[in-house]
Amino acid sequence: MNAPTRVVAELRFLGSGNAFSPPGRMHALALLDGTILVDSPPTVLPQMRSFGVSPSQIRHLLVTHWHADHVFGFPFLILDRWKMGEINGESEKINIHCRPGGKERLTKLCEDGFPGTLSKELEKNCSWNEEESGELEFTDWTFERFPVSHTPATEPHGYRFTHKSGLSIMHCGDSGPCKEIENRAPESDIIILEMGVPDFVDSPHHHNPSDVSEFHLRHPNALILVTHNFARSKDSVEGFEIPELPDGVVQVEDGDCLEISDSGNFSLIKK
Ligand SMILES: [Zn+2]
Ligand SMILES: [Zn+2]
Repeated sequence: MNAPTRVVAELRFLGSGNAFSPPGRMHALALLDGTILVDSPPTVLPQMRSFGVSPSQIRHLLVTHWHADHVFGFPFLILDRWKMGEINGESEKINIHCRPGGKERLTKLCEDGFPGTLSKELEKNCSWNEEESGELEFTDWTFERFPVSHTPATEPHGYRFTHKSGLSIMHCGDSGPCKEIENRAPESDIIILEMGVPDFVDSPHHHNPSDVSEFHLRHPNALILVTHNFARSKDSVEGFEIPELPDGVVQVEDGDCLEISDSGNFSLIKK
């Protein structure tokens, strides 16, 4: 008899759309184990609330790049953690992992959004980490940040997360096909790939459906989860049609959750 399996990690998509938020999709947003958030899009608060996630439970925020659909929600996240934290008696620190200079950028964004309001909170309850790799304190994960191919002025990066069990998840951020992703793909069990443009757009800064299909052929053993999708959701009628992609590639929808068991099996729970 097989030993019962136990869920050891959970990857939830609080949004799965590109910068245009196509019909039925909010901006791409991923949450690992309920405490590790990748990016903070403008509507980060409603996206979290839609799926029962409280801003105060976030311990780590990892920034992929400086495009607005990935960081403009940061002031709202900090505002909520401060004010609602006071009301609810919660004041855990959040660790913000970003490129050198990121603290200044995000502090300015807060000052532009809520002048004279958030500076004390940023000093008191935010811990800034500009290292390119390390442990994610109080979690079962370590991370590595690596450069990807996207608008260069945004300092585009992806992250590879390694679980204490050895399982590896690569989050490619916004990126077209690139060597850094290729090099890490054979060692990755799960790959979160963006698909920001349709096939008629040939861009070095995004994957289109043909790029994703070719990527899958090169890396057939990885589970590929497509997010930052240009196409509408399955329940929407307006917008670009959902493209056909090979088996082994899953186009996630807002709210989908991947459960990972201690035996290394995955199951995708649709919202
Ligand atoms: Zn984007
Ligand atoms: Zn971008």
